[in-house]
Amino acid sequence: MPELPEVETVRRGLQMTLPGRRIQQVELFRTDLRVPFSEGMAPRLEGRRFTEIVRRSKYLLMHTDGPDVILAHLGMTGTFLVRPLSNGAPQKHTHLRLVLDDGQEVIYHDPRRFGLIILVPATELPAHALLTVLGPEPLEEGFTPDYLAEQLMRRKGPIKPALMDAALVVGVGNIYASEALFRAGIHPATPAHHCAARAGALVTHIRAVLTEAIASGGSTLRDYATSEGSPGYFQHHFSVYGKAGNPCEKCHSAVEKIVQAGRSSFFCPQCQSLKVKKFHRKKR
Ligand SMILES: [Zn+2]
Repeated sequence: MPELPEVETVRRGLQMTLPGRRIQQVELFRTDLRVPFSEGMAPRLEGRRFTEIVRRSKYLLMHTDGPDVILAHLGMTGTFLVRPLSNGAPQKHTHLRLVLDDGQEVIYHDPRRFGLIILVPATELPAHALLTVLGPEPLEEGFTPDYLAEQLMRRKGPIKPALMDAALVVGVGNIYASEALFRAGIHPATPAHHCAARAGALVTHIRAVLTEAIASGGSTLRDYATSEGSPGYFQHHFSVYGKAGNPCEKCHSAVEKIVQAGRSSFFCPQCQSLKVKKFHRKKR
């Protein structure tokens, strides 16, 4: 499943290719993905030029010079490909094609169809229900140690599901929550409010694991933007994620796995402690 770094890689690929290109033709090969395609998608987009491709959490916001923005989510298996125009019938699982004015086409391919592509008037985007529920971006200024400490103080449940809650911070998926907690030396079952004193370290490590993953995706950008082969999802180096039974990189103890909120959490029982110093607020 594409996580934030993969979606950011897709965004960069589209941003390198699409701005300035005019949409000549819109072809839909079914009526829906997770939800129906928007009414009148073809007439609303045809003739418009792409201006900018933005990401918010795992949503792609494809701005045009028209009144509508394409709001897209890749779901479990969605991919956008930009490639030379192919004539003939669409491939199986290709659900949408945008014919561009430079002899290329944008294809949306999604075997499991959990993705989403709708049009939203640009004026309504800031208040859109899918976006207003989202917390701050982990790589932007609003995700500060003070903010995270404040949020963690309110939560009695375990730290890992808390970090994965999009209302707290977006884009910290299962992999990156496990990896950041390993680097911070915090056991994933530690009560969240006990971790407030380590909010600074958590912010640092969450940013680092995501930034490194985005950087490692950079080498796939060219392939992504031009070929119909690899969609540009990539395997990163993980310290604990998926490594149950393997020796810890730091201490050689066996990495362990537990299930939390229905998701697998991986951790080193030696390097990651349940005992984190409690956070005491300064009295005024
Ligand atoms: Zn260890």
